[in-house]
Amino acid sequence: MTILVDMDDTIEQLLRAWIRGVNEKYGRNAVYEDFKTWDVSAPYPGLTKEQVYDIILQPGFWRTVEPIPGAAEGLRLLMEAGHRIYIVTATPFQSVSEKMTDLLFKYFPFLTWEQVIITANKQLIRGDVLIDDGVHNLEGGDYVKILMTAPHNLSYNAEANGMIRVHSWAEIVEVIKGLEED
Ligand SMILES: [Mg+2]
Repeated sequence: MTILVDMDDTIEQLLRAWIRGVNEKYGRNAVYEDFKTWDVSAPYPGLTKEQVYDIILQPGFWRTVEPIPGAAEGLRLLMEAGHRIYIVTATPFQSVSEKMTDLLFKYFPFLTWEQVIITANKQLIRGDVLIDDGVHNLEGGDYVKILMTAPHNLSYNAEANGMIRVHSWAEIVEVIKGLEED
């Protein structure tokens, strides 16, 4: 199968690093569970969207983002099982170089640039499966939809919208195995 895999908060922990960055710079104490919507500036009253979103554009930021435990292992397993893996990420263009060098190829060295697709319109990409924490990337797509749980999608009814909710890479590997048998 061709398996499309989101990057931010699907294989690495962008949100946690982002929160640390904003909290440190502006003396705030927001916690992960506060981020109930896609808008990262929402739990920061008094800060502008620009102030909050500028954090991820700062040089060195992507070095502070850590992988999700089990993601590298899971991706390797899927590749060894013969699946084609593509990382599909919507990211500010300013971030691309550091994000690839300091994060993707650092923690996932078995992936190559030929396996990376940068786009804000994931529904245009053809694949059998998309694994993503953003429901807006899954809705309307012509692929099996696997929703990675995140605080901003907790109240979303994945099942009713034709998605499979997962909480870990171990679960993702299991779901893919199930699809292989179909
Ligand atoms: Mg994401």
